[in-house]
Amino acid sequence: MNSNFIDNEQNIYQHAPAAEPERQLYFMEKARTLLKARFESMLASGEALNQYGQEMLDKMISRQAYGTFCIQTFGCQMNAKDSEKLAGILESIGFIEVDTETADFVLYNTCTVRENANLRVYGRLGQLGALKKKHPRMMIALCGCMMQEKEVVEKLKKSYRFVDLIFGTHNIYQLAELIYRRLNQKKMVVEVWEGTDKIVENLPAERKYAFKSGVNIMFGCNNFCSYCIVPYVRGRERSRNPEEIIKEVERLAADGVVEVMLLGQNVNSYGKNLEHPISFAELLRQVEQVEGIRRIRFMTSHPKDLSDELIAVMKESKKICPHLHLPLQSGSSRILKVMNRKYTKEQYLELASKIKKEVPGISLTTDIIVGFPGETEEDFLETMDVVEKVGFDSAFTFIYSKRTGTPAAAMENQVPEAVVKDRFDRLLKLVQETGSRVSGREVHTVQEVLVEEINDHDSSLVTGRLGNNTVVHFPGDASLIGTIVKVSLDEFKGFYYMGTMQP
Ligand code: SF4
Repeated sequence: MNSNFIDNEQNIYQHAPAAEPERQLYFMEKARTLLKARFESMLASGEALNQYGQEMLDKMISRQAYGTFCIQTFGCQMNAKDSEKLAGILESIGFIEVDTETADFVLYNTCTVRENANLRVYGRLGQLGALKKKHPRMMIALCGCMMQEKEVVEKLKKSYRFVDLIFGTHNIYQLAELIYRRLNQKKMVVEVWEGTDKIVENLPAERKYAFKSGVNIMFGCNNFCSYCIVPYVRGRERSRNPEEIIKEVERLAADGVVEVMLLGQNVNSYGKNLEHPISFAELLRQVEQVEGIRRIRFMTSHPKDLSDELIAVMKESKKICPHLHLPLQSGSSRILKVMNRKYTKEQYLELASKIKKEVPGISLTTDIIVGFPGETEEDFLETMDVVEKVGFDSAFTFIYSKRTGTPAAAMENQVPEAVVKDRFDRLLKLVQETGSRVSGREVHTVQEVLVEEINDHDSSLVTGRLGNNTVVHFPGDASLIGTIVKVSLDEFKGFYYMGTMQP
C-alpha cells in the first residue's frame, strides 16, 4: 500500500470513540476515505480500468465502491454468520464483493475443528502469496478459529510474511479498525485475543439469503468435550441479551426474512450468564411472537441439558420446525464418559424416544465420531445399537481427528487407521439403511415448502425444504424463491421428494 494514502494525522486514534460500535463506525469512515483517495488516483492514472475492466469499474462507480473483496468461509454456520458481518463491514468501508480471489482484499474465515482444515488453508495461502506478487496492492487477511492457535500465528508470521492481517474469533467486529491500522503501517497486523466478555451489537451485516438468516444467540462453549477444540478457540459462553436478539429478528422480518436459525455451540445453555437469566425455551417463546417469521430453527442442542420445557415449547409451537440436530458422538457410555459428554447411552435413548413421542413426525439428525481413542469393537457396536434404536433421518459421521491442545490428543490407545476405516464404512451403511427406513414418511401428503433456489440440474424446477429440513424439487420459477408454498409430495427418492405445487 503506497504511503501516499495514509493518514498523517497522528491523533486519529485520540479522536476515535472508545465505545463500540461507534469506534468501528468511526474507523469505517476513516478507512473509506483512504480507499476513496486511492481509487480516485487509480482512476486518474487509468490503472483502475486495467485492474477492474470497464464492466466492474462501471459497477463500482455506480455503487460508490473503491475496491473489491472476496471472503472464503470454512467450517460451521457460526463462521458463515461471522462472514456475513465481515462482509457488511467491508461493504461499509467501500469494498464490493466479488467471487474470485483476484480481489483487492481477500479474507479467509478459517475453521480448525479437524486437522485437515488447517492444511487446506496453508495450501490455499501459498497460491494467494503467488497472486499477491502479481498484485502488490492486494491485502490478505486471516481470521476465525484457526487463528486462535498460537503455533499457527507464529508459523504465519515466520513463513507467510505476505499476509497483511491476522485476527481471531473474539474481535471480528474490529475489522475496520484493523484494516485502517494496516493501511497506516507497513507491517503485518496481528490482533488475536485470548478471550472476551464483549458482544458488540448493531454492526452492518451482509446477509447471504433474502428470505432466511442465522441469528447468533450466544458465543463460546463451556462443555470441554475432550476431543473438541471449540472451547479453546471460541472462549467461554456468553449470551446476547434477549432484547437485542428480538430486535434483530424483528429487523429481519421487516426485511422479508421468513425463517431464522438461532445459532449457538450449545443453545440449551442460553441465558445462563445474563443479568436476568432466561431459558432457551423462554427465548423461543419470544421469537415465536415476532410477526412475519414463519419458521424457527436452532442448532446445536447438547443432549446433556435438553429440557422438558424445550420439548414442550417445540410441541406447542406453530413456527418451530420439526427438526432437531442432537449430536450423539458415541453410543458407548464408557466412551461418552471419556469424551466428557455428561450423558449415558440410556439417557440419550430415553431423550430421543421422549422427543419423538412428544413431537410426532420430528426429524432427528445427529453427529457421530468413529475411532475415538480407546474405542473397542464393543464400544462401536453400542454406537451401532443406538443408530438402530433411534432411527435418525440422517447423521454426520466423522473419523476422530486429533486436535493439539485437547485432552483426547494426549490419550493413549489411538485406534489404528484400518480399524477406524472399517468401522466408519459399517456405520455409514447402517445410517443410510435406517435413514431410508424412517425418512420419506410424508410421501403422498401435501406439505409446506420454503422455496430456496432454482434447481441446480434442471432450471424448470425449484428446490426447497420442508419444516423437517427434507429437500423437495418441483416445477416452478424464480418468482417462488423465498415464499412458502403448499406442495404435494408425489415421490420419495431416498433423501429428497419430487412434488407438485398446489393452487
Ligand atoms: S459442546 Fe462439546 S463438541 Fe460442542 S462445541 Fe462444545 S466442546 Fe465442542
